[in-house]
Amino acid sequence: MKIYVVSLGCAKNQVDTERMLGSLLQEGSEICATPEEADLMLVNTCAFIAEARDEASAVIIELVSQKRADQKLIVTGCLVNYYGAQILKGRQMEVDAWLPVASEAAISEVVGKLFKTKKTVDIPYGPRIRITPPHYGFLRIADGCDHKCAFCSIPRLRGPMAEEPMEALIEEAEEMAAEGVVELNVIAQDTSAYKKLPKLLEKLCEIDDLYWIRLQYLYPATMSDELIDVIANEEKICKYIDLPLQHVNEDVLKAMRRPTHAFTEKLLDKILNKIPDATLRTTFITGFPGETKEAFEELEAFVKKGLFHHLGVFAYSLEEATPAFPLGDDIPQEVKEGRADILMRAQKEISLKKNRSYIGKTIPVIIDRKEKDRGFGRRMADAPDVDNEVTIRNAKKIPVGSIIPVKITGAASYDVTGTAVLEGLV
Ligand code: SF4
Repeated sequence: MKIYVVSLGCAKNQVDTERMLGSLLQEGSEICATPEEADLMLVNTCAFIAEARDEASAVIIELVSQKRADQKLIVTGCLVNYYGAQILKGRQMEVDAWLPVASEAAISEVVGKLFKTKKTVDIPYGPRIRITPPHYGFLRIADGCDHKCAFCSIPRLRGPMAEEPMEALIEEAEEMAAEGVVELNVIAQDTSAYKKLPKLLEKLCEIDDLYWIRLQYLYPATMSDELIDVIANEEKICKYIDLPLQHVNEDVLKAMRRPTHAFTEKLLDKILNKIPDATLRTTFITGFPGETKEAFEELEAFVKKGLFHHLGVFAYSLEEATPAFPLGDDIPQEVKEGRADILMRAQKEISLKKNRSYIGKTIPVIIDRKEKDRGFGRRMADAPDVDNEVTIRNAKKIPVGSIIPVKITGAASYDVTGTAVLEGLV
């Protein structure tokens, strides 16, 4: 069977896709590059905000429009949870199965029924089939979230936080390392809430073939001192602190049901005290209901302090069935987007300054891809898919997935360039 797969949304959702493929890609099935070649089309969706739902709907409509009678289309993931029973009305004719989040174990049975093959895969999960490049991967240590941030639909879509057992995670990480993963990205909706995270990280650092371990999606109130110490002390852990703050004005934060700015300022001080070379990434939301001009200016002034190497800014999106829904959507879209633009323009200058500070330094870079003689990679300061790239001029003989020393020779607002120091290849 040939399977065409579209995985939308975040890395956490991608892990679900990889698990489903693990169940399906057995007994001679394979992934194909175009929908025309496929027997089965699988779309794993995101529904976090309206934009994500629109993107998912566009993909589904496109696939439905070109679907032949002998092909099957399955839609899974958050969009199915978001619309619930409504999605089943009138749409079953076009989509052969709608599977909610956490249906990985059921997918092979559903596919078996759709194609009327008696044989279904005997084990609920096949081995996970990663769709990232072979040298990096995502280890999802938990799914769901126990927080009640007012703007967020994740707890409704994915339920409360459920942790994976530590032993299973270590085994999974060892398997990934044996398959060639050298950079492990540890993820969850709230990664720092994993109860024994410091212990887990120490165990992961003991895996010989893993060289970089990166934490993503940390939540301020669950960043323990013990966790900060492990990040500071373990050489393999990237000094990369991805800490979404969402805002800095206390009234807005209160309405968002987030930790106070006074708390996060102290936390940032503590982090920078223990990890002076930390790369900080955060995200902010502009135009949350009640965000006054003054509240936004407070946020702007904070961004302009230049603490963050990487910044994501989202214009607020009103979501039904979130705690913030009754607050309405009182800020015009153009104001929300204008404020987001102001922050991103300020960040561009900051990012340029920070990138320039690398010029003349030789730093480790992981090679993600190559085009002719040039290589494109990342510093420990850059997460895959979301942050900046390093262009390496002389990468002809360097294999993708290597971690090599690169002397940085040039910097732009987001990306840097450099020359590989060819002795010292890992
Ligand atoms: S911590 Fe993150 S995933 Fe959890 S409710 Fe808040 S924004 Fe959503």
